[in-house]
Amino acid sequence: MCLFCKIASHEIPAEVLYEDEHVMAFKDIAPQAPVHFLVVPKKHIETIMDAEENDKELLGHLLFYGQKIAKEQGCEEKGARFVINCKTDGGQTVGHLHLHVLGKKQLYWPPG
Ligand code: 5GP
Ligand code: ZN
Repeated sequence: MCLFCKIASHEIPAEVLYEDEHVMAFKDIAPQAPVHFLVVPKKHIETIMDAEENDKELLGHLLFYGQKIAKEQGCEEKGARFVINCKTDGGQTVGHLHLHVLGKKQLYWPPG
């Protein structure tokens, strides 16, 4: 089982912000902003490019709860950064699809 599958099944502890039968949101262990949490599907999907037609609803669910939790974390007024890294060029280090949400910090574009 991969690291985020273990977190999603409570085998490894995390600071959980939200959980339902489809997704879990938890704080990043190495936060890059005052608000930095990850939203993962409970189903193991390795990267965003491995999503299939029948995962469309799950992807919407992931994004919907990402923005909902961002607002609960106080990011509604000033916004936040929603990021999905994919494979090596995208800088993905954990092989289980996850949405990063970073807030309460002024971020810039383009990324380095
Ligand atoms: P990626 O680079 O794959 O987009 O992001 C992986 C993220 O997972 C990193 O921001 C990293 O800090 C976080 N991470 C890695 N291992 C753990 C862990 O065991 N627990 C938690 N909560 N976050 C982790
Ligand atoms: Zn997994």
